[in-house]
Amino acid sequence: AGRLAGKRILITAAGQGMGRATALMCAAEGADVLATDRDAALLQGLAGVETAALDVTDPDAIARVVGAAGDLDGLFNCAGIVVNGTLETTTQADWDLSFAVNIHPMFHVTRAAMPGLLRRAEATGGASIVNMASMAGSVKGFVNRCAYGTTKAAVIGLTKSIAADYVTRGIRANALCPGTVDTPSLRGRIAAAADPAQAERDFVARQPMGRLADVNDLAPMVVYLLSDESRFVTGQAVLVDGGVTI
Ligand code: NAD
Repeated sequence: AGRLAGKRILITAAGQGMGRATALMCAAEGADVLATDRDAALLQGLAGVETAALDVTDPDAIARVVGAAGDLDGLFNCAGIVVNGTLETTTQADWDLSFAVNIHPMFHVTRAAMPGLLRRAEATGGASIVNMASMAGSVKGFVNRCAYGTTKAAVIGLTKSIAADYVTRGIRANALCPGTVDTPSLRGRIAAAADPAQAERDFVARQPMGRLADVNDLAPMVVYLLSDESRFVTGQAVLVDGGVTI
């Protein structure tokens, strides 16, 4: 049996990038995975995984999809977007969008899932929530990431609050803080730069190991945090950053 055998796990933003890699790794470890994404077409080809369209900014869709998912042993809130900007160059729209995608849905999805998580925690001894944060935010400030860093700092705050409130009831909550990860959206940001080759060199240069992370450098940490192996770990902002914060 795998490390997640018998566990029902819901993942948001599982169409590509770290969410997708984690969905596949969780399934390989025996989990019963419900992989969701705003873009249903991206969920095609996820072998061995149940899928459902879910835009996490849509409260009705959250109620419907989480309600139909059944009681969960694990929840990976992975959805998030990056908008660039300093305090002065961030538009009101980008500020609002960052909160609308990166933090408000985590509150709503986790609230919708909590009754089932509590039932499973009572039945099995534990349930686990993993929230996607970043090394950028409260861990470390980065240039041009005003709204992004603010929302990712909020993710860590929400995670610690949940961990504190539910530690006696079998629910653990941890935040994942990746370094720079080679995913479709990162590739998109590189391509959109004025000088893409320089933008890629700059992303690599901020990684002390001299390379970007692969999604499979991150997924094993999520599997660990969702598994019972991490049963004594809660309320942590777990850095998997290739040495940025040494
Ligand atoms: P990605 O950005 O390439 O893909 C993100 C996925 O999220 C897409 O499939 C997209 O359809 C989905 N999505 C976007 N808005 C959504 C919504 N409203 N509802 C549901 N799904 C939605 O993948 P990634 O780079 O692995 O990013 C995933 C998470 O990791 C994000 O929260 C991001 O902030 C975080 N992160 C990424 C990096 C990095 O360097 N790539 C570093 C730290 C943290």
